[in-house]
Amino acid sequence: MSLELGNIRDEAVKLIEGSDSPEKLDEIKVTFLGKKGKLTEILKGMKDLSAEERPKVGQKVNEVRALLETKLEEKKKEMNRTLLQAKMKRETIDVTLPGKRFARGHRHPNQIALEDLEKVFIGMGYQVVEGPEVEFDRYNFELLNIPANHPAKDEQDTFYITKDILLRTQTSSVQARIMEKGDLPIKIISPGRVFRSDEVDATHSPSFHQVEGLVVGKGITMADLKGTLDQFAKSFFGPDTKTKLRPHHFPFTEPSAEVDVTCFKCHGKGCNVCKGSGWIEILGCGMVHPHVLEMCGIDPEVYSGFAFGIGLERVALLKYEIDDMRLLYENDVRFLNQF
Ligand SMILES: [Zn+2]
Repeated sequence: MSLELGNIRDEAVKLIEGSDSPEKLDEIKVTFLGKKGKLTEILKGMKDLSAEERPKVGQKVNEVRALLETKLEEKKKEMNRTLLQAKMKRETIDVTLPGKRFARGHRHPNQIALEDLEKVFIGMGYQVVEGPEVEFDRYNFELLNIPANHPAKDEQDTFYITKDILLRTQTSSVQARIMEKGDLPIKIISPGRVFRSDEVDATHSPSFHQVEGLVVGKGITMADLKGTLDQFAKSFFGPDTKTKLRPHHFPFTEPSAEVDVTCFKCHGKGCNVCKGSGWIEILGCGMVHPHVLEMCGIDPEVYSGFAFGIGLERVALLKYEIDDMRLLYENDVRFLNQF
């Protein structure tokens, strides 16, 4: 019996020392010390022993059990130490390695176009003024010669907060606010977000941006308007750009015009950007309607002025030859990285 016990002890110690994982140690524990383990089997066999031998063998079994438990515990500690050392070694930081580069953001194409545009007008002495996006019907329509039931209201259907408060359909609302203040002369541009209840497609969005321009003073004429827009087009699209005014109708200007510029890509020869015509429409403009001046408290006999409205997305799409407006709003980094 004691020879068998000795063998069991030697076998277990050998296995413990040779094991290389905590799982193996657990297995060994079960094999030798578990309910059906080898030591337990010996204890079960003790009933066949004489009364004299029984306590001796019992003591031996306990000694072996204690020894194995100690050995298992030591081995486990040793393993943990080794694992920890390996982990520390793995996670050592080499301070001499070059750092990770973080991707740096940059301006959105809309923002680039806006800043370019602002630079041109600030250079001509304009002030940049902003107005509220949630606007009274009075500033968005009424003071701009678009009374209730005017057909222009249908073309600019928007989102109403109440009957009289809405999301502005145009930055022209800022015109009325500035004129009403009455600090003359006025020379401003007003960039900002506008809203229409349009379905999203390649050229429409329920929310987009305009840049409004307004000049009011004594002796302002259509020639000033034409000269200003010509200067803008040359600075923005290139020095050889030509401008052309086509008669048009807007309720708040008279006379009114749409402005075309020679295509900056083909310089007027005709290409895919200008759809073969050599010209690109970029904005609407006109002389401020005398009735509008009057409604805002300015005497049209003394003062005159001009106004223009540029679609920011329109010039951004043109300048960067983007064929779908939706790309500007989707925030796909693969697209935005190109600017
Ligand atoms: Zn062209």
